[in-house]
Amino acid sequence: MKRENLRRTIITISAFLMPFTMFFISPVVILLAAAEGIINSSAAVFIVLFIVSLFIGRFWCGWLCPSGGMQDAIGSGSRKKPSGGWKDFIKFAFFVPWAGLIVWSFIAAGGISAANLLYGTEEGIYPEILYVYLIVLVAIVLFTFALGKRSICRYLCPIAVIMIIGRKIGTALHLPGLKLTVVSENCVECGRCDSACNMGIPVSGMVKENNTENRECILCGACVDACKKDAIKIGFGRR
Ligand code: SF4
Ligand code: SF4
Repeated sequence: MKRENLRRTIITISAFLMPFTMFFISPVVILLAAAEGIINSSAAVFIVLFIVSLFIGRFWCGWLCPSGGMQDAIGSGSRKKPSGGWKDFIKFAFFVPWAGLIVWSFIAAGGISAANLLYGTEEGIYPEILYVYLIVLVAIVLFTFALGKRSICRYLCPIAVIMIIGRKIGTALHLPGLKLTVVSENCVECGRCDSACNMGIPVSGMVKENNTENRECILCGACVDACKKDAIKIGFGRR
């Protein structure tokens, strides 16, 4: 199976599973648990995402995130791409108070009193979660058609910031990791890679400058598959 088809299949399955999984990877539920001094599954997942992002950056966003899967599916009906600029920093503006609120909630609760990976789901997952799913779905449709494919990943998601920080640290420490590499001389400037990138990254510019590190790259590999000249590759190596 072609890599892009495999990625699309995996992330689409993840999108369909979102009503069952979102309680465990929620930036909101982590706050509810923190207010009771409880480390819940969201906290555990975000810690794991930070650690693995030292090596594989935002791979989660490209291959596994249910919201990313919904954005890819809905984004197929839109030609608009995120244009970046100042909007890229909105997610950092969300992240700082969100992370601060988590820390403050734990302090107010007297510290960490327990870990409960099933927090809030001990009696099962409430059917009401479907309303939240519908709200997320509507938000994704609106953002996709107003601001472009994957605009939530690019502009809003505080979880992305966790992995951006991890990626930066991994790169600064020259840790081995998943990365794009380019063979600039193979590039004929056809622009197919630019069209393939749902994150709106000017990939051909990266190829030209021989610089593959981009904060917004989710390592999906779509540009690699789109390039017919083997000018872009994806694989593990030292950074
Ligand atoms: S698709 Fe390949 S050849 Fe075309 S612009 Fe991108 S890197 Fe260059
Ligand atoms: S640059 Fe390539 S690997 Fe990175 S997000 Fe864009 S298409 Fe995916």
